[in-house]
Amino acid sequence: MISSTATTHHRTPIEIQVDVLVAGAGPCGLMLANELGLRGVPCLVVDPKATTAFNPQANATQARTMEHFRRIGMSSQIRALGLPAEHPTDIAYFTRFAKHELARLRLPTAEQATRQISKMSGSWSAAELPHRVSQKFVEAALRTNAERFATNQIRFGWRLKEFVQTPECVHAVIESADGSSSIPVQAKYLVGADGARSRVRAQLGIEYGGATGFQRQFMGGKMFAIYLRAPDFYKFFPHDIAWMYVSVNHERRVFMASVDGRGEFAFHAAVHPDETPESWTHEDALRIFREASGMDIPIEVLSTGIWIAGHSLVAGKYQEDRVFIAGDAAHLFTPTGGLGYNTAVGDAVNLGWKLASVIKGLSHPSLMDSYEMERRPIGIRNTGYAKHFADSVGLFAATEDLELAGPTGDNLRRLAGEVLNAHARREFNIPGVTFGERYDASPLVFSDPMDIPLDSANEYLPSSNPGGRLPHFWLSESCSLYDKLNFEWTVLCTEQSSRHAAQLAAEGRAAGLSVEVLVIPAQLWSAPDDGRMLVVRPDQMVAWRGTAAAHPREIWARVAGARPASSPG
Ligand SMILES: Cc1cc2nc3c(=O)[nH]c(=O)nc-3n(C[C@H](O)[C@H](O)[C@H](O)COP(=O)(O)OP(=O)(O)OC[C@H]3O[C@@H](n4cnc5c(N)ncnc54)[C@H](O)[C@@H]3O)c2cc1C
Repeated sequence: MISSTATTHHRTPIEIQVDVLVAGAGPCGLMLANELGLRGVPCLVVDPKATTAFNPQANATQARTMEHFRRIGMSSQIRALGLPAEHPTDIAYFTRFAKHELARLRLPTAEQATRQISKMSGSWSAAELPHRVSQKFVEAALRTNAERFATNQIRFGWRLKEFVQTPECVHAVIESADGSSSIPVQAKYLVGADGARSRVRAQLGIEYGGATGFQRQFMGGKMFAIYLRAPDFYKFFPHDIAWMYVSVNHERRVFMASVDGRGEFAFHAAVHPDETPESWTHEDALRIFREASGMDIPIEVLSTGIWIAGHSLVAGKYQEDRVFIAGDAAHLFTPTGGLGYNTAVGDAVNLGWKLASVIKGLSHPSLMDSYEMERRPIGIRNTGYAKHFADSVGLFAATEDLELAGPTGDNLRRLAGEVLNAHARREFNIPGVTFGERYDASPLVFSDPMDIPLDSANEYLPSSNPGGRLPHFWLSESCSLYDKLNFEWTVLCTEQSSRHAAQLAAEGRAAGLSVEVLVIPAQLWSAPDDGRMLVVRPDQMVAWRGTAAAHPREIWARVAGARPASSPG
């Protein structure tokens, strides 16, 4: 539990003492609160907003993020949010929504995704498929879930004001959003999940590196966002219903995602360099919607905003001693590929088990240094993929002739369709991006440098080489291999190696770790691994593989930072 009104050796009275202070209750901070809550680690999350996001923001939850939600028991709850279960999730491209359809990628509905996943193989052998749901719904669910844990305190209406760190702890001050009151907080660790304008990153003096300011006809430059309600859209829309509608014409490039499948949409229009959306009115919002849709239907504007597309930025460092940055605070994406929030969740997962293990005294504090070593290269990788997708769609030039009536226009639209169909498969069928994150350079994993699979956006090559996601398979139609993993550590083996696995697990338990052995029927275990055991981390990444562990204590010391049993606190 969070304790109150303690006093430190500093004379400031500490009103809240907590293990982890998290600045920011976006998806990153809230996911971290869930990871810590599940492990009973006292955590305080503060965010100056009144509650979770009103605007839809991210639209896509990638399959790997859904697997993490499944791991923490939330995937069914999340899959029920957003679009109705039978609503199509296609991505479709039009000159204007009411005019010519140019290209379409058909994807399963939420209901089909739940049924089909256990029959999928190869790149898509997974516990979950992606889910098209607005971030606002995910955030609300993550908040409700995080608040179930007695060790969590989620305070909306409060921000992190400042902090200093000592070798033993972090002293911070949180203040109410109106600035009228403040509370001193002492924490063992501070995580800045406080978004692109991160105060934590600024106070640490860490800069974003990478590239920004890319200009493209689409997805490079200012974007005007309208969160709108237009129930009549479905009445007048002449094509098959989709989830993501993209307009490709010389006048206004737009993407629009369905938020609830009933008439709410997140509409994002590219702004021309000579336009000033800062002064746009409600009438301008209607004009922009008409331009892109070719439809004159009533719309209710729920909110508007301006954001910049064209970032590919990663912070130079993710850690300064007891303080970490994660999510948008650590990296900033152009939203092509839908990777910003998903990478933020991945950061939280990585931090969660490590912080808990160190705080409980099971792992050496130096385990925390591996967070930056593992996640910063992923930030660079994923922002790179997002930029590649932005170039792929944004540099395609839509000319006036694309809307010509007759054979010339038809021919141009056919050619555009070929380009956009290829692009849609490149940007929206990305098992390699979502499952292929690897930590080969991490000191925690025993990666074999001769066996690292190719990193490719559209293809995922399952590999048990330590450093990557545990290859997935179904044990039965409804039971994923992942459902049987221990919440913390698992030694995976077949009957043939179960005796060695039991010894290895016993050594981990002797170091205080939660380790279970999972024996898999040999016929289900993929051929190249015959007889080999795998040590699987709490985040389902493989840390070690081998036939017999000659030095099990050293394995646990490396993969978990485990302290020898006799080591003092
Ligand atoms: C139009 C658009 C579409 C997108 N689509 C996708 C998509 O499909 N898929 C995807 O993965 N990503 C997408 N993204 C990106 C995604 O929205 C972000 O990457 C995601 O919100 C990052 O989560 P976060 O928790 O790191 O930061 P945020 O969501 O920004 O949360 C940070 C929180 O910190 C709070 N905060 C700020 N200062 C303080 C302080 N001093 N103390 C305490 N709290 C503070 C803020 O109030 C905020 O709530 C999209 C973004 C945009 C703009």
